Amino acid sequence: LFAGPCDFLRSCAKLEQLPGMDRPEVAFAGRSNVGKSSLVNALTGRKTLAKTSNTPGRTQQLNYFDLGGQAYLVDMPGYGYAQAPVEQVRDWTRLVKAYLRGRASLARVFVLIDARHGIKEVDKDALGLMDQAATSYQVVLTKLDQLKAAERDARIEETLAALKRRPAAFPEVLATSSRDGIGIAEVRAAIARLIDE
Ligand code: GDP
Repeated sequence: LFAGPCDFLRSCAKLEQLPGMDRPEVAFAGRSNVGKSSLVNALTGRKTLAKTSNTPGRTQQLNYFDLGGQAYLVDMPGYGYAQAPVEQVRDWTRLVKAYLRGRASLARVFVLIDARHGIKEVDKDALGLMDQAATSYQVVLTKLDQLKAAERDARIEETLAALKRRPAAFPEVLATSSRDGIGIAEVRAAIARLIDE
């Protein structure tokens, strides 16, 4: 899946633009600035993906990457911008709700959470959408390099505890740092297991 750099396929602002459901896919979601572009770049081996969907006020898009011709990796639009206008939040929710409900080939959403901050209210809103849509999701802590070793374990435990009563949450947390390369292999392995199933 990750033998070579993964090709960027296309950006989809509407569900009609999505590729066919001919293969499984995994998606990445998270609050703006959580480190999603950095993680997607680390996973796919691509250095630069235009971050248009990350700019407040721009069209929100689902960015598709090809994983070895066997699966898709989907970079979902970020959420939780401080100055996001109401319409933008509404558009995000609409697009994501429709995507989650209509995408039978979606194996799991990896929800990125900044290890320094843990799960915030805006994250809970996003997790709630996935619980409602019964879409399997797994939390990936980002920027682990910003925490001391002892703080890392505590953050992981706290995050697991917060997910306990959430029906669609996968009961394991991945911990990563794109900067230091921590946990990248583990995320890739988790994706590979999902694709093999
Ligand atoms: P996005 O908005 O979620 O796509 O986040 P970006 O990938 O653009 O990263 C947002 C900011 O966090 C940038 O300043 C990155 O350099 C920084 N960042 C991303 N990943 C890491 C990481 O693993 N460790 C640290 N310390 N900073 C990171």
